[in-house]
Amino acid sequence: MERGLENVSIRRSQRAKHVRLVIKPAGIELVVPPHVNEAQAMGFLHQHREWAERKLTEIQGRADNDHRSTPVQPLESGSMLPFQGRDVPLIVGQHAGNRLKIKKLSDGPFEVLLPETSDLSTDLKIRSALFLWVKQWMRAEVHRLAQHHGQVLGLLPREIRIKRMQTRWGSCGPRNDINLNWLLAFTPPSVLEYVVVHELCHIRHRNHSRDYWDLVSRHLPNWSQERRWLKAHGGELLRRFS
Ligand SMILES: [Zn+2]
Repeated sequence: MERGLENVSIRRSQRAKHVRLVIKPAGIELVVPPHVNEAQAMGFLHQHREWAERKLTEIQGRADNDHRSTPVQPLESGSMLPFQGRDVPLIVGQHAGNRLKIKKLSDGPFEVLLPETSDLSTDLKIRSALFLWVKQWMRAEVHRLAQHHGQVLGLLPREIRIKRMQTRWGSCGPRNDINLNWLLAFTPPSVLEYVVVHELCHIRHRNHSRDYWDLVSRHLPNWSQERRWLKAHGGELLRRFS
């Protein structure tokens, strides 16, 4: 997830004539012929990255569709939201005020009160309110996790931001700013924890080298289970909420 190399694997090919990107549901493959050096290959990846990520989301969405054939449902009263990996109902009402209100009682449903005056579609209004609520909830949750793991690892981020991200779950920038996808609120807590640790470990290793994974393993021995969860269910979440 660092420097956008998450989902990208690099394959040297004796037979390839040109650098190319192959997009499969499992990820992006950068195929590099013998005469092309790493810097050139990275330049090519950088140039075509947005296209590749868009394609990847498309293909992963399609793969999910093939498996589960769940159409994207609008968010409305009675919708179920997989908050922290467990289905929580959404209840929508209206009120006379002009601001949308959203709250969630512990172990209770999400409750949304819509203003009567607004021309956005209800679905959009609910989505933006949900985003704001989740952002605030996640900020507290993630700071707790980052404090705990960051202290044990001796790796503390400069800042953590919760964002809408189209294709990634997290990233760690060169100045140790960590970005996390707000949809991690809809994964089991252990998955959110894994992504936080994943990004914290990038403060030390800015790659996915063996040293990097050794560090993750020492700290979170079950990380591959959480990673598998993301691979199996992440595409569906991105498609439903992005
Ligand atoms: Zn990473």
